[in-house]
Amino acid sequence: MTQASPQIPDVATPRRLDCDVLVIGGGTAGTMAALTAAEHGAQVLLLEKAHVRHSGALAMGMDGVNNAVIPGKAEPEDYVAEITRANDGIVNQRTIYQTATRGFAMVQRLERYGVKFEKDSRGEYAVRRVHRSGSYVLPMPEGKDVKKALYRVLRQRAMREKIRIENRLMPVRVLTRDGRAVGAAALNTRTGEFVAVGAKAVILATGPCGRLGLPASGYLYGTYENPTNAGDGYSMAYHAGAELSGIECFQVNPLIKDYNGPACAYVANPFGGYQVNALGERFVDSDYWSGQMMAEVKSEIDSARGPIYLKVSHLPDETLSALENILHTTERPTRGTFHANRGHSYRTHDVEMHISEIGLCSGHSASGVWVDEHARTTVPGLYAAGDLACVPHNYMIGAFVFGDLAGAHAASTLTDAAAPQDLPVDQLAEAHELIYRPLRHPDGPPQPQVEYKLRRFVNDYVAPPKTAAKLSLAVQTFERMRGEIAEMGARTPHELMRAVEVSFIRDCAELAARSSLTRTESRWGLYHERADLPGRDDSQWGYHLNVRKQADGQMEFLKRPVAPYFVAVAELDGLPPADQSVHPVTQPPLHGGQAPATSRSRATAPAVAHPPSPRIAAVVALEVPSLAELAGFLADPDPGVRRTAVAALTEHTPDGYDVALFAALADDDAAVRRTAADGARELVEVLPEPGAVRARLGSPDPVVRACAVYLLSSRSAGDPVQYRSALADPDHRVRIEAVRALVSVDDVTAVATAARDGNREVRVAVANACATLRAGADTVRALIGDADPLVRAAALAALGEVGCSDDDLTVVSAALGESAWQVRVGAARALGGSHAAAAVPGLSVALDDPHLDVRRAAVLGLTRWAESDLAARDALSIAVKDSDADVRAYARRALDDAGRRADA
Ligand SMILES: Cc1cc2nc3c(=O)[nH]c(=O)nc-3n(C[C@H](O)[C@H](O)[C@H](O)COP(=O)(O)OP(=O)(O)OC[C@H]3O[C@@H](n4cnc5c(N)ncnc54)[C@H](O)[C@@H]3O)c2cc1C
Repeated sequence: MTQASPQIPDVATPRRLDCDVLVIGGGTAGTMAALTAAEHGAQVLLLEKAHVRHSGALAMGMDGVNNAVIPGKAEPEDYVAEITRANDGIVNQRTIYQTATRGFAMVQRLERYGVKFEKDSRGEYAVRRVHRSGSYVLPMPEGKDVKKALYRVLRQRAMREKIRIENRLMPVRVLTRDGRAVGAAALNTRTGEFVAVGAKAVILATGPCGRLGLPASGYLYGTYENPTNAGDGYSMAYHAGAELSGIECFQVNPLIKDYNGPACAYVANPFGGYQVNALGERFVDSDYWSGQMMAEVKSEIDSARGPIYLKVSHLPDETLSALENILHTTERPTRGTFHANRGHSYRTHDVEMHISEIGLCSGHSASGVWVDEHARTTVPGLYAAGDLACVPHNYMIGAFVFGDLAGAHAASTLTDAAAPQDLPVDQLAEAHELIYRPLRHPDGPPQPQVEYKLRRFVNDYVAPPKTAAKLSLAVQTFERMRGEIAEMGARTPHELMRAVEVSFIRDCAELAARSSLTRTESRWGLYHERADLPGRDDSQWGYHLNVRKQADGQMEFLKRPVAPYFVAVAELDGLPPADQSVHPVTQPPLHGGQAPATSRSRATAPAVAHPPSPRIAAVVALEVPSLAELAGFLADPDPGVRRTAVAALTEHTPDGYDVALFAALADDDAAVRRTAADGARELVEVLPEPGAVRARLGSPDPVVRACAVYLLSSRSAGDPVQYRSALADPDHRVRIEAVRALVSVDDVTAVATAARDGNREVRVAVANACATLRAGADTVRALIGDADPLVRAAALAALGEVGCSDDDLTVVSAALGESAWQVRVGAARALGGSHAAAAVPGLSVALDDPHLDVRRAAVLGLTRWAESDLAARDALSIAVKDSDADVRAYARRALDDAGRRADA
């Protein structure tokens, strides 16, 4: 049946809708944003281009919450550290912390809505460990029903009065006035009607750009992501002037070959499944968050050892039935049919795996519209939540949390924002042209052809491994395709929707290519693998790469420094940068299309790409190098050579080495400076003139400044005034060294001034410093009230050293019952600083603690009274039967020693 071509509606008389809060996209984040905004009293309009009941990623089925921080099972700070590591340091920790701290309340809210989460026989959440550290995966036995449950709540009477849902209504542009979001221009994808919406606040929740790369199957909609998510929100935010971030950090996922669903190795692995190559060799750990893993998977597939499989056929029948139950119903019901149609079953065949097409998605990666911890974009009145908001690895629970945050914040601004009367006519006209131009030339190239061509170019020129030459061709191609897209033809409202989607995909493709060209380094494994620029460069690129549309329509790039971490991550020493200012950065010029004229020939003299300098081998070959022999290498233009020479200085310590080592602390290359700092720390006890490092206290590199403070204090060569001023350093690593240095000069007063430092590790260092100095009881007591459990734990342990008075006992015994085991360890240590009558009962109770570190601390505490106190001996006699060998050994030794002393 053919549909009659719609007339082009009059641009001047759109159907007008008004609301307080406009939510665009009725998936995970959008429904939660609408519910929360309505609960806060807003009149909400929820626009969905499909139908809210079964739209978005959720309706495709979820097997579990990927990132739940359940109290007692994981700590928010550990989650923040894990995501910081997984994202190679480029994160705003404040946004991730929101997901970490609000995810559990969201799980409970969803339970109230009827969503089921797996629990064990004691009714505790059955979280599984999948990531490098921490247990965050919470299975959902009936994850296929989440969207149904949400829709039920949306349709309850109280919500119906506040939330108006318009299905099949697709905004194409956010409208702005004086830089503030005031509504949207939309197409009715069934009737072709033109709609203008006025709103006090707009929330974008349109999901990822899932239709960027072309799947290996070649099928336009056979994407990993829900294919209605064509990057609409990325494009709308960009045209509204909002900043986007990390667009060069693509999403690539492991999936089942030829089937557009996840391979779910992380589901199968806890059951005993694992990834193997065609030789049956395991080649990767199950750390499904890392781009590094995706790089390894791709290289294995491309190698002679490919293809790769998810190995399950070795598992017992009942395990496979349990797996089928999850994977063929919850995650994606068509999965069982797919295997069955090929005559495969998990009992006879392992699952051939592949990698997905590239996409933009914060849920699984990091690219999105820049938001703060309240889901605000850089355009006032405009919010973003879910996969299109730049909160790395946020997944489903993060989409819910940020939907909730956006809804709450948008509703809180309503009294200050005026309801828009007239909407900007020029922007409505532009949106009208974008939507309806294909009706003017219905015989123009159809959408499937143009989209296929566009996305094939994405695969050819943008998918990793990336190079400047390919990316340049990509930019030129996408510029050219503006014209082809403008010429596309359409005859029905549905085709009009598809044609606008192609323009969104083109925008995303151009943003992806230009951003990839501008970040001149490799990072995030496969996600931004620049084959022409291998290696990560933290000194140049410890920044978010943000992009926005300027008033003249040009694309502008900004380097936004990573904000100081409040959860330190040891491996990320070079980050965040000390200079916290935002810089514009220029996209490198385009090249490619014409190979440079050169007499070089790889045919006659194949060159090895970037071989390590032979001078590195020359340094290593020096048996006992003198400073004069090393001098040339220390000044070599290749930082790799200089680094090796600095390492040789540290190893051989030729005469005068210290001067050269300190000079290397000022090298231009961060890695050389770090090698020099490591060397100086290693040689701290033997450096002839440690005071000379004072000159490096003002280094722009925090690694060097921290090293200088460390050397000066370790060798008593520094000045207490310098240590005090280092306490004000912008980098927490320097401040931590400063606290330790102040301990070396017994300056407890200065140490105390750092007790309110914004960085947790500094506060932990302060507590430890008080313990070492056995002073600063007031500071210790203040830190016992800290919001951070690790600080509380350190402070309680310090109380054991500075003296635990009877007044402290109430707070210490409460700490013995805290959910964080580290705090309970601290409380047990605090009791060690009390007297027997107060301590022994508490420590005896702690011997029953489920965490063995708490029991160890308790048994060590009791040792002190083993001789003098009968109750302590009784408790120790029970501890000799503990399930842990250390606890048993400590208890036995304490009793034996006490017995011996009594006999003597
Ligand atoms: C296959 C798959 C499996 C997953 N499994 C898990 C899992 O097991 N655990 C987990 O924690 N996470 C999982 N995720 C991730 C999680 O589902 C997503 O991070 C989350 O659902 C994203 O929510 P969202 O609101 O951003 O997008 P969506 O829920 O996809 O919603 C976007 C909505 O916007 C609509 N829309 C788009 N453009 C427009 C427009 N112009 N106008 C109006 N409406 C528009 C779409 O139709 C859609 O309804 C999975 C994702 C996928 C794709």
